[in-house]
Amino acid sequence: MPAPVLVHPRAYQDFFPFKFNMNIPETWVEKGYVCEPVPENIDIAAEIRRLAKEKNAVILAHYYTDGKLQDIADFVGDSLALAQQAAKTEAEIIVMCGVHFMGETCKILCPGKKVLCPDINATCSLAESCPADDFATFVQQHPYHKVISYVNTTAATKAWTDVVVTSSNARQIVESFPENQPLIFGPDRNLGAYINSITGRDMLLWDGACHVHERFSTQKLLALKEKYPEAEVLVHPECKSTVAALADVIGSTAALLKHAVASKATTFLVVTESGILHKMQQMAPEKTFIPVPPDDSIDTNTCDIDSQHAKMKCCACNECNYMRLITLEKLYNSLLHEWPVVDVPEDIRSKAIRPIQRMLEISARLGL
Ligand code: SF4
Repeated sequence: MPAPVLVHPRAYQDFFPFKFNMNIPETWVEKGYVCEPVPENIDIAAEIRRLAKEKNAVILAHYYTDGKLQDIADFVGDSLALAQQAAKTEAEIIVMCGVHFMGETCKILCPGKKVLCPDINATCSLAESCPADDFATFVQQHPYHKVISYVNTTAATKAWTDVVVTSSNARQIVESFPENQPLIFGPDRNLGAYINSITGRDMLLWDGACHVHERFSTQKLLALKEKYPEAEVLVHPECKSTVAALADVIGSTAALLKHAVASKATTFLVVTESGILHKMQQMAPEKTFIPVPPDDSIDTNTCDIDSQHAKMKCCACNECNYMRLITLEKLYNSLLHEWPVVDVPEDIRSKAIRPIQRMLEISARLGL
């Protein structure tokens, strides 16, 4: 898959329905974030917390963001947990330290609140692999199918969906449909194929993928398994089936984290975005977590897991370049200036909210 191209912020005026206020400085619009210097003499973490309190803002961070953001957030979680938090927050402002579709989900669930995304360039290659117009055509070609979309989609794509899923609840939601109900699953072909394999369903799959999870190297995973034969292999279901076939556990980031903490094993080969290692290491400091490298990484023999932080940064880790666009400085400036704001037009929001609420209802019923 080619390297993702960052869309120029001006293009977002058509692609994403951000509100571009005429009073916003041209340079901010050009960059897609508030590009003002942060005063040198401040404790930026303390200032962010002070601003959040002053403005009644809640800071949500995904497990794939930089550890410094996770440490400062009010809540850290995977896509399902972040949506559940957004749905019940009483804060007036939601700051999404994650990618744009996560901000959209917050706005869809909380239309009366201001939702901030500290850098509007933080999109998602998986969401972008499923343009709403093309997906709509696909759906219209299969009128008897119910449509299941992964949460990693734009609001406009969700508007063509019957129920949204995350990797935490995809299996259960697919199984909630009668066995003879034809289903479409989009946009992740790897997750869709995995769910087909464990449920025995034959869902029609959209041909999309995440550039991070597609890149994990089967060969390098095999080499690491040989080097650490006692290690458990934890794999996210967005990975290719050849990688998933080597897993001891396949699950969402939240499920992999839970397993890593509870397992008797002490060493883990982690095959998902390396940001999750921050929380894994925090919750199980006595254990060793080794990020499995992508195809184009350095050689696994250069790994050094003996030094303090090497546990989290050996090899060339798979980092989501979109998630890593969110920094403490951008978060500070976003809270201070309350920009960039995420918006979703009402005609799309009113359609996209139904499949998201359906997901939240089914998840609550199943105790997920
Ligand atoms: S890791 Fe992949 S699916 Fe997750 S936000 Fe980044 S590009 Fe999207």
